[in-house]
Amino acid sequence: MARSYVVEARRRGLGRRRERIGPIVERLAEEHSDAEIALRFRSDLELLVSVMLSAQTTDVNVNRVTPALFAKYHRPEDYLAVSQEELERDIYATGFFRQKAKSIRGSMRVLLEEFDGRVPTRMDDLLRLPGVARKTANVVAAELGHSQGIVVDTHVRRLSQRLGLTRHDDPVKIERDLQRVVPRADWARFPHLLIWHGRRVCDARKPRCDDCVLVDLCPSARWSDPKV
Ligand code: SF4
Repeated sequence: MARSYVVEARRRGLGRRRERIGPIVERLAEEHSDAEIALRFRSDLELLVSVMLSAQTTDVNVNRVTPALFAKYHRPEDYLAVSQEELERDIYATGFFRQKAKSIRGSMRVLLEEFDGRVPTRMDDLLRLPGVARKTANVVAAELGHSQGIVVDTHVRRLSQRLGLTRHDDPVKIERDLQRVVPRADWARFPHLLIWHGRRVCDARKPRCDDCVLVDLCPSARWSDPKV
């Protein structure tokens, strides 16, 4: 399906990806000027823990849990000063709490042993933390002002395909396609723009193309005419 949207963009004469990306970013930035990470955090460490907790759950759910969590745990040492079970109870509501508690404690250990207790900003370093995969590392690096890639989550994947910016399904290949066309200066904000557009307009099941600012740039646009 993704493949057909790349071809469809050409068929509809919408222009090449590189030509469309500028107006796409511009219009989304205007439409979603409030687009930013939905997780709430006050420090690099809280950012890292929030992003780790957000796997397989919503940001809203994480934000419900973290105020009490961050009131109790301030430094990497604090996560290691309690038992695995105690941390599991404190993050229980985010789901997959056993694996997450194990990953968080493992990461805190590496932070202390290898990074003086600080959250690193290089992808290679972030990827050394247990339980931190490319998506988490990308989010953390971008929020710390050191984007080295483009975050690909479910919204970014769906919208990139619908907009004919990629013909791939695999997040790593999608990221590579996006890196080729999205200007580097926009790598950090681009995923937020797609995520908010995906939530507000380009719904997975019912995209509201009639209300979409990208309708003339999008190869999968449908209008309300039932024949279209
Ligand atoms: S035109 Fe429709 S399919 Fe394309 S981005 Fe907008 S809402 Fe999504």
